[in-house]
Amino acid sequence: MIKIINKTLLNKIYKEIKKYDDIVIARHIGPDPDAIASEIALRDSIKLTFPKKHVYAVGAGVSKFKTYGNLDHPNYNDLHEPLLIVLDVPNYNRVDGIENLNYKNILKIDHHPKEDIKGIVDWCDEKKSSTCQMVAELILNTKLKLNTKISENLFLGIVSDSERFSLKNTTIETFDTVKKLLEKSKIDFTNLYDILYTRPFSEYKFIAFITNNLIIDENKLGYIKISNQNLKDYNVDTATPSNLINSYNFIDELLVWIFITEDVKNNQYKISIRSRGPIINKIANKYNGGGHKYASGAKLEKMEDVDNLIKDLSEACKDYENNKL
Ligand code: AMP
Repeated sequence: MIKIINKTLLNKIYKEIKKYDDIVIARHIGPDPDAIASEIALRDSIKLTFPKKHVYAVGAGVSKFKTYGNLDHPNYNDLHEPLLIVLDVPNYNRVDGIENLNYKNILKIDHHPKEDIKGIVDWCDEKKSSTCQMVAELILNTKLKLNTKISENLFLGIVSDSERFSLKNTTIETFDTVKKLLEKSKIDFTNLYDILYTRPFSEYKFIAFITNNLIIDENKLGYIKISNQNLKDYNVDTATPSNLINSYNFIDELLVWIFITEDVKNNQYKISIRSRGPIINKIANKYNGGGHKYASGAKLEKMEDVDNLIKDLSEACKDYENNKL
């Protein structure tokens, strides 16, 4: 049975959007396709529906995501009591590009566990595959308009965050939303996969490097420490490991796996963690990180903390296996 969409909540969001002349849409730092696609799709839909409104999708641009559309760089002093819409992020310190913005109110749409951001309308649902699924449901169930480009972006965000409908966050609602998007806009969806999955050969060699160097312990915890030199050798950046980590989702010998990437520019280690069983976001929280039950991240400065995190995750794997017996 498809869960009935909460139309009252969606209409509340629509009415809130309708009230404001100036709207800023933001998402998390270090964006992934779901974050970028959702902010651009929502901006474009609001502009299409209300051509007189000033709507901006903000945050640092990422060159490999430029096919999704351009980001905006408004002068915040020119805005009059704007609405801030926060997408795909639950905590203030990870929202990108809103320093110096004086907003009137915040509205939030997100599929992470709740943290400190509380919107006047706060649509937070951990069961959704992606923020793009939520934005698609909003558009499909209110008077917000859709065009081909908006549909394409939403499709890409859903496919990416659900890892091609294979992760546990994929539900019958996900398929239903995608079906409706395809019916309404007839996008050429198979060709869109190129945008997500075509990569330079050097990146495939980097995948081989990770595969050959991943250490797997007796509790089915896999980990790899990727140095700045490793990144240079394969001509990839600090964001690449987290873009690749979902590809390790179907390996018998792995329950939890963690990529630790040296980020010399910020003098820290970027941590990406995935799980096929144990809940990992509580452990990431302990190290000032966060995320979903089975997909989390953190930033650490000391290798000692990294090693403790590895130990905690390994223990979680052991407990998980023991509880299965
Ligand atoms: P990633 O491995 O970077 O794709 O991140 C996986 C999930 O963890 C995403 O939902 C992120 O929002 C979350 N996440 C990543 N890094 C952090 C962090 N430093 N603090 C809190 N959450 C994070």
